[in-house]
Amino acid sequence: MKQVNDYFGCLVFNDEVMKSRLSSDVYKSLKKTINDGCELDISVANSVAVAMKDWAIENGCTHYTHWFQPMTGITAEKHDSFISPDGDGKIIMEFKGKELVKGEPDASSFPSGGLRATCEARGYTAWDPTSYAFIKDKILCIPTAFCSYGGEALDKKTPLLRSMQAINKETLRILKLFGHTDVTSVKTTVGPEQEYFLVDKEYYDQRPDLIYTGRTLFGAMPPKGQELEDHYFGVIKPRVQAFMNDLNEELWKLGILAKTEHNEVAPAQHELAPIFATTNIAADNNQLTMEIMQKVAKKHNLVCLLHEKPFKGVNGSGKHNNWSISTNTGLNLLEPGATPLQNAQFLLFLVAVIKAVDEYQDLLRISVASAGNDFRLGANEAPPAIISMFVGSELQDVLDSIETGKPLNTKGSKFLKIGADVLPDLPKDSTDRNRTSPFAFTGNKFEFRALGSSESISCANIMLNTAVAEVLREFADQLEKSKDFNNDLHDLIKDTIIKHKRIIFNGNGYDESWVKEAESRGLLNLKSTPEALPHYLDKKNVKLFTSHGVYTEAEINARYEIAQEHYIKIVNIEALTALDMTNKYYLPAISKYSAKLAKVVNEKASLQIDAVYEKDMLKKLSDGLNKAYAIKNELETALAKKDDIKKASDESIYLKENVLTKMEALRDVIDSLEEITSEEAWPFPSYGKLLFGVR
Ligand code: ADP
Ligand code: MG
Repeated sequence: MKQVNDYFGCLVFNDEVMKSRLSSDVYKSLKKTINDGCELDISVANSVAVAMKDWAIENGCTHYTHWFQPMTGITAEKHDSFISPDGDGKIIMEFKGKELVKGEPDASSFPSGGLRATCEARGYTAWDPTSYAFIKDKILCIPTAFCSYGGEALDKKTPLLRSMQAINKETLRILKLFGHTDVTSVKTTVGPEQEYFLVDKEYYDQRPDLIYTGRTLFGAMPPKGQELEDHYFGVIKPRVQAFMNDLNEELWKLGILAKTEHNEVAPAQHELAPIFATTNIAADNNQLTMEIMQKVAKKHNLVCLLHEKPFKGVNGSGKHNNWSISTNTGLNLLEPGATPLQNAQFLLFLVAVIKAVDEYQDLLRISVASAGNDFRLGANEAPPAIISMFVGSELQDVLDSIETGKPLNTKGSKFLKIGADVLPDLPKDSTDRNRTSPFAFTGNKFEFRALGSSESISCANIMLNTAVAEVLREFADQLEKSKDFNNDLHDLIKDTIIKHKRIIFNGNGYDESWVKEAESRGLLNLKSTPEALPHYLDKKNVKLFTSHGVYTEAEINARYEIAQEHYIKIVNIEALTALDMTNKYYLPAISKYSAKLAKVVNEKASLQIDAVYEKDMLKKLSDGLNKAYAIKNELETALAKKDDIKKASDESIYLKENVLTKMEALRDVIDSLEEITSEEAWPFPSYGKLLFGVR
């Protein structure tokens, strides 16, 4: 039998391959670029290109592509073959350093948010040597950044790398103060847990809403939903297990550390968690994972749904972004440690994250805002739309003790002096694992739980890295001037706790009372994407990004505009799909079924038989049909009116308030009619088939 060891990473141009195929000088210089971000010499690039090409050809490739992540949120690729004429009517297989390092795709059809006029449509892609090249479908894929000719980032990778650079710089300053002169680079790490649904392709193919929008716009609940909680961690069905086995194999070949798989709460819902990696690699890997999940599902005659809310009435899907900061010497900076100094350093990083989350709640909220995720956040199945943090009772005691100067609750402990005392043991992943918190400390990392399942993790990490970088910069500015480090450190930590403790909430985030409490604390409650997005352009946020070189003002504007446009387009497509299904299928089907009943009523009447059931149903269906028809007309009118609105921010609010609400009202009527209509008369497969159809 094939052993995982034999094929793990076999499609990746990884360190082992580099070591065996590059001369030691070239290898060393490439490693320097990878580890410390030094610029790559063209002669080195040439050697790497040749080695990469030879390796790719040996593995069956004929083409290469610069694989990138435009602002659409998915990945893009344009394939070029290695062939080159040799002058004698034959070809040679060629790949030069300059082709490896830079590509020039026509970028005119990617969203640029006004960054690029179409007359200068070309963009360029630049190799990210810190993320390994890999082979997908016999194509050599080179992870790249995507920029305009003016150098503006047109993608999600470039700002992510810049944000990692920003946090690297500020963290190194802090670490120096703690005597870590051996640390030369710091990287953030991420382990994204990915949720998804699997449905039978046969049923999927019959649902225009799933095909066009990724979610069901209609559908009555079957007799059973998720109330028995028998799916969560339940035995995995053979067909799903076969899919998971195949998926793992494909991911492992690509060097993706797929680790944990299990059934989730909703029927047909599952989760996959990889082992964490450096953030940009984790982001690349997560994009690949989502793509491969969908591909592998098709092979099993399944469809993998990544939408945040494919089904009303059962949980939607999210992504947990487990995040930490690590040094090149192997230290996890969110690990409490064992000595007073290590503890002090940990507490400083901890309060830095607390302050960052408090001051940039709006950005974190924006980073998870999408039309799909609006159905989850605040809907008591996912974290609330209010951003808050959970630290657990043990750590809360420590923070309280520092703040008040009162002894810790643990026995024998006195006043906790930072830099002099040792923290009590903090049990890893302790306590009740508060699942209702959007941002939880879990022992040696933070878990940002509000991300949507279909979105790239880049945006959330760009916000997080940059916000923490900013706080670390402020801390470093202050501490570098200090004459009495331990004392000033203590004061800084204490002061930060006092100023930002409002963001910490260890209670139940689903509780109604939290909404009120959060409001009294002055925390933001940005309930939907249209409400959250305008904060992108708040002065403090523009200053944050520009001062750390993560985004220029033009780049922020572009992202804001693209996010607004995206929301508007999504809701528009959904509304058109709902109308299409109603006009062409639901209304005619209900009418036809009513006619059938009416015929029976007449026939029975002629025989002097009382048609109680048929009459009752006919009445209910006719009332419902008229009601659905009226709401459908209102929806059409409401949708047409959006074209009169000039500003995108007004348009998105309008769609949320006037179009999504009507779609919901229409759905309510149609779903209630589904409940009383014969299954054979209904035009689309039921929720029962979609949710329980895979066996
Ligand atoms: P859960 O109990 O939430 O299902 P686990 O404790 O198994 O999750 O871990 C969740 C994720 O956190 C995994 O992807 C794991 O690799 C990741 N993780 C662990 N340590 C770190 C770290 N230092 N930085 C980032 N992610 C981490
Ligand atoms: Mg988790």
